[in-house]
Amino acid sequence: MAVDSVTSSPLGPPACEKDAKALQFIEEMTRNTDKVQERVLGEILSRNSETEYLKRFWLNGATDRDTFKSKVPVVTYEDLQPEIQRIANGDRSRIFSSQPISEFLTSSGTSAGERKLMPTIHEELDRRQLLYSLLMPVMNLYVPGLDKGKGLYFLFIKAETLTPGGLVARPVLTSYYKSEHFKTRPYDPYNVYTSPNETILCPDSFQSMYSQMLCGLIMRHEVLRVGAVFASGLLRAIRFLQLNWSDLARDISTGTLNPRITDPAIKERLLSNILKPDPELAEFITSQCSGENWEGIITRIWPNTIYLDVIVTGAMAQYIPTLDYYSGGLPKACTMYASSECYFGLNLKPMCDPSDVSYTIMPNMAYFEFMQHDPATPPPSRHAPPRLIDLADLEVGKEYELVITTYAGLCRYRVGDILQVTGFHNSAPQFRFVRRKNVLLSIDSDKTDESELQKAIESASLLLKEFNTSVVEYTSYADTKTIPGHYVIYWELFVKDSANSPSHSVLNQCCLAMEESLNSVYRQGRVADNSIGPLEIRVVKNGTFEELMDYAISRGASINQYKVPRCVNFTPIMELLDSRVVSVHFSPAAPYWTPERRR
Ligand code: AMP
Repeated sequence: MAVDSVTSSPLGPPACEKDAKALQFIEEMTRNTDKVQERVLGEILSRNSETEYLKRFWLNGATDRDTFKSKVPVVTYEDLQPEIQRIANGDRSRIFSSQPISEFLTSSGTSAGERKLMPTIHEELDRRQLLYSLLMPVMNLYVPGLDKGKGLYFLFIKAETLTPGGLVARPVLTSYYKSEHFKTRPYDPYNVYTSPNETILCPDSFQSMYSQMLCGLIMRHEVLRVGAVFASGLLRAIRFLQLNWSDLARDISTGTLNPRITDPAIKERLLSNILKPDPELAEFITSQCSGENWEGIITRIWPNTIYLDVIVTGAMAQYIPTLDYYSGGLPKACTMYASSECYFGLNLKPMCDPSDVSYTIMPNMAYFEFMQHDPATPPPSRHAPPRLIDLADLEVGKEYELVITTYAGLCRYRVGDILQVTGFHNSAPQFRFVRRKNVLLSIDSDKTDESELQKAIESASLLLKEFNTSVVEYTSYADTKTIPGHYVIYWELFVKDSANSPSHSVLNQCCLAMEESLNSVYRQGRVADNSIGPLEIRVVKNGTFEELMDYAISRGASINQYKVPRCVNFTPIMELLDSRVVSVHFSPAAPYWTPERRR
């Protein structure tokens, strides 16, 4: 029941006292955006004034915005890489932060083919937890009664590695789920998961998924929301159910656990009080999963589901039709916007349509600046850096690139995200996530840019040399209709000697050569996570790319400026390409990947 109007919030009536405090906090932060930003920058600069990095710019103790903006450069990861490498190698001096670097967070963004390493400090966990603590109070404004049931969330940790200097390197969510903040979180009736901690904290992805699915099936009537971090993760869970439902049903029928589940903590937890023989439930699952038709499977198995909690903005928008198919069009809540570098903000209207999602950046998380992004103007030169705009001074309708200064010591760091201001909540701007800069192809958390694709094509083309064959044109497409999704590359070949053209198996090997050349996040998705399917090459008839150009020109493109699109997703173009396919090839094996970095 909503609390009385004394504690009511402009966002709506809070569901409980705890929510009232959280909503109050959001109001305070967003009403004082500029003041909070000034305070945050002051805190960061004063506590890090003695760091090697800041001393380099002669701030002489100044903590004001003007001095900061005039002296400290805007940077990318590559600019910071030498210092980051020193920290990874064991240099414990105060390079970016006056506080010790507690670990590295491995971003899904890559640099030279490897995941970026983001140094972080222990207290950042508090900031991340603070943002998480705001999500349910906002959701409770729109969906009453979430304290009457549970959330089926598929959450995972990944293997961690040690840098040469002995610091742990792992994804930010692995760091969070393994922290005491998560493991010993106080009971909150509005935020109860079907997955016990033991199932989330198992690094073996099969055992973790299997046990989380098993718990979700057993508690099917209690489930009020189904989610994963990103849409691709939830679809992976559905695929897992397609492949494993009969084993799961057997376990439920007999009350015994599949021998593939060997993790002692999971076994103990499931067998002590969760898994009991329930032949009726097993029969129900069999009846639902054994048929061909999986339409609406989520609502059939979890009939009380009110919404899906998954991010479907940005690259994940491509999964909306598939999610709608499996869920009968349930609402899809995109609750937050975050990265390894920094958690940014939340969606104050989480039940809105995906196309209307706007995230409100919380001004207490870091100091945020924005570089106006106008695709028509050339990129700024390094010698005349652009003037960056403050969070409170942005204009509705304009697009900006996000630049952050964090407590962990990143200063004026370009995240690579392009955001558009859609409005304000109090004085805090709200943003539509437009896209990540330079990302051409993405299936899961992989991000492949144009130059990586070009490099992969070149590397595969080497195999064609002995057949006197070359790739004259190419384009690509992220096929998300298959689960897992996969990269499709269209090739037009020039075969000089048709008596010696490359065989089917050589072209299959070309698929693998491309995969070998792609970055480590892609290869991990292929090898360890099974979140990306084998790469496919579709060879098209000679002259196809000329037809593509004719088509673009017929629709108004200038002949002078026409460039072959390196990624396509416009249906008529794909239909044209597909109608010209002469052969289809798939990668015959998994590419090389280990958790160790190549560099
Ligand atoms: P990572 O550093 O691997 O955690 O990736 C962070 C990036 O994921 C962000 O910079 C965004 O590009 C993307 N991302 C995170 N949250 C969202 C969201 N809610 N919508 C769209 N993209 C997102």
